[in-house]
Amino acid sequence: MWERENEYYSGILMNPFHFSTRRLVSQIYCGLKPASSKKQRICFEMARPSSNMVDFREVFAKAKHIAIITGAGVSAESGVPTFRGAGGYWRKWQAQELATPEAFARNPSRVWEFYHYRRELMMSKHPNPAHISIAECETRLSKQGRSVVVITQNIDELHRKAGTKHLLEIHGSLFKTRCTSCGNVTENYKSPICPALAGKGAPGPEAKDAGIPVEDLPRCEDCSGLLRPHVVWFGETLDSDILTAVEKELEICDLCLVVGTSSLVYPAAMFAPQVSARGVPVAEFNMQSTPATDKFSFHFAGPCGTTLPPALARHETEIIS
Ligand SMILES: [Zn+2]
Repeated sequence: MWERENEYYSGILMNPFHFSTRRLVSQIYCGLKPASSKKQRICFEMARPSSNMVDFREVFAKAKHIAIITGAGVSAESGVPTFRGAGGYWRKWQAQELATPEAFARNPSRVWEFYHYRRELMMSKHPNPAHISIAECETRLSKQGRSVVVITQNIDELHRKAGTKHLLEIHGSLFKTRCTSCGNVTENYKSPICPALAGKGAPGPEAKDAGIPVEDLPRCEDCSGLLRPHVVWFGETLDSDILTAVEKELEICDLCLVVGTSSLVYPAAMFAPQVSARGVPVAEFNMQSTPATDKFSFHFAGPCGTTLPPALARHETEIIS
């Protein structure tokens, strides 16, 4: 079963045999050619993904089922912090230290303050052109009998805010809670989520107080059990129903976009290679390619808020009634 911690081992997720075979073939091919630096260069360029937007648009125009896998890069352009990497701290912790079942068991007040802060922060954030172009594309294509599904690791609901309907949130949502007693999952957009969290959760130095008593943290309306954020924490498995839904979408898609994350990094690394192995084109939209993205058909470098809107705009062959 896939666990959240697998993102640390993303390199392993790629099929090394496929890669090395392709690279080997490419090198042998180049090696057999008469020594000509120009020919060699062309040979290597052919091994790389295309960044030709006209070619991509032709593929896009024919696609009936488009799967769009999105990662943190899409939200970063809306100013949503990940609390990971250099400088990514809330108080003295990074997300990996707070987004765990162990941290919640040890100090539910601190973890709730962290999530309360993130929920409140999201109230001031808006979808960017990448989110909006995806949502508009779904609406437009649905009138043509074509489908778009968004598979995201983001928990901020910016895709939903932008108007995306067909959405698979593999890591859950900041705006859902789950009861630790009865398991009930509910949407929750309250601000603050409970009176005791009002004015709490500020980043910076650790608060000096003893924290919020557990009985004053968010509680279940049905059984009064302690609620937790309905998000997949590090070390937890992904929801099997959502994974099944993702698998179905990946089996029927005839074009796959990887946006704001690398195809080599979780979660796209879980999904994109299997799509690619079926011969379905995969297009990456992110800041930089990696040496191994030659497995995929297209790569468009740059902020996806800039690269995605022209890619998903109405194609001249689209007939809109
Ligand atoms: Zn309950």
